[in-house]
Parts: sequence; structure tokens; C-alpha cells
Amino acid sequence: MATFLWDDIVFGPIHSRRVGRSLGINLLPREAKVCSFDCVYCECGGLKRGAAKHPLPTLQQVREAVEGKFSALAAAGQGIDSISFTGNGEPTLHPDFAAIIDIVVAERNRWFPEAVLSVFSNAAQLDRPDVVSALKKVDNPILKIDCALEDMAAVMNRPRRGYTVAKAVEGMRAFEGDFVMQTMLVRGAVVDNTTPEALEAWYKVVRELRPREIMLYTVDRDTPVAGIEKVDAASLQKAAEPLLAEGFNVKIFVN
Ligand code: SF4
Repeated sequence: MATFLWDDIVFGPIHSRRVGRSLGINLLPREAKVCSFDCVYCECGGLKRGAAKHPLPTLQQVREAVEGKFSALAAAGQGIDSISFTGNGEPTLHPDFAAIIDIVVAERNRWFPEAVLSVFSNAAQLDRPDVVSALKKVDNPILKIDCALEDMAAVMNRPRRGYTVAKAVEGMRAFEGDFVMQTMLVRGAVVDNTTPEALEAWYKVVRELRPREIMLYTVDRDTPVAGIEKVDAASLQKAAEPLLAEGFNVKIFVN
């Protein structure tokens, strides 16, 4: 089964219709995914035994990669529209995450002040004040809630012990709605978070947290667990309708 791992700290630029010319930043090892979740749909593949032994890039390596790439692109006259922390797992697990955010914000301001800075996070570290304050420094903290039913989230996200949706929701309150919620909808024999019960529980959380934007999407690549199905565009739209009708800014991404 095809999986997808990034092999550079700073990769791109990649051109996308949605975000323009974009750079990615990967704070995780090149060889394996490191994450506190092991989502059944993860495009990086499943967690592998011993993955945590692969070294993370050091603060100095990240600094050099960011400074080198940003200055080289600027010297070549190339513009960048967006910069996103994504990559082979969960960026907030890097022990120097907060310091790295400060470096990237400073380098973005220096070379590409118009570029939008985003972090894709599973929101499992929001009980750490350093992570929350670092995430508040970026334009788009994009925080995951796939499912508000604890049992279903446990099947879908396969989190490390100690994670609960309730805890993630509690952590998201600190953003006072100034964040983007990312939600993956899937169907299939393993899990289906498009059922009326699952959607009602999710709507309740959205209404409570009032994120300024909601990204609703579905699987694009092969999944590490068999039996995970893509949700069609009409069903994504139907799932979004009640929130759209209430004025929420829901963006649907169909691949
Ligand atoms: S949180 Fe993201 S990186 Fe981690 S397992 Fe889920 S999809 Fe993969």
C-alpha cells in the first residue's frame, strides 16, 4: 500500500489552486511517522514499531533549513503565498516547537511577509501552555476534531492513552474561536462518522467552540487500514448544511 513521507525539513514550493505557491515544514523524522495518533486514514501510513527512535531534526538544523530555503527563494525572485507545518506526523510533539515557531514567524516576516502561516495539528497537546501560545502566533492554527463521540474517535484516530475529545475541546477554548477546525469524514466497515448521531455530536462541539473556519474533507490517498471509504461531495455538502445555515464558514475540500 502506498504511503507518503516527506524527506526534507523544508519542502516545496508546491503549487496548489487552494493556497498558491506553498512551502511545507516537516519537524518529524524522514524515515517514519511520529504522532500521538495513528488515524485509520493517515496518508503517512501506520505507526511503525521503533519510529520514535528516529531522530527529530534539531533546532539548529531547522533554523538552517528555514533560513537557507527562504533566503534562496527570495534571492531567486520567487514569491511564496503560504507556509504550512505539516509532514510526517504531529509537529507539536517536537520539543522545540515553540522556539521553531518564533524562528519561522521571524523568517516569514523578513522574506515573505504576505505568506500565510499555518500549522496542522491533531490538538492533542493543547494542555501545554507553550504549545497553545505558539499556535496562537500563526495565522491559521488548524486543529483536528474528526468526531465528538469518544468511542468513535478512539477507533478513528487511535490516540495514545490520555487523549479524550473532551480534553481537546477544553484546550480549544483558549483560542476563543480564532482557529480553523479540520474534520475528516469517512465511511466504511471500520468507522463511519457521517451517521446522524456522529454529526449531531460534532455540530454541538462546533456550536460551542465557534471556530472562524471549518475545513471539511475526506480521504485522498491510500489509507493504512483497509475498508476506509471516501465520502462523496454531496454527502460532505449535506453534512455541512446545518452549520452553513447557521452562518458558520465551512469550506469543503473534495479531492
Ligand atoms: S494526526 Fe495526522 S499525522 Fe497523526 S496519525 Fe492522524 S492523520 Fe496521521
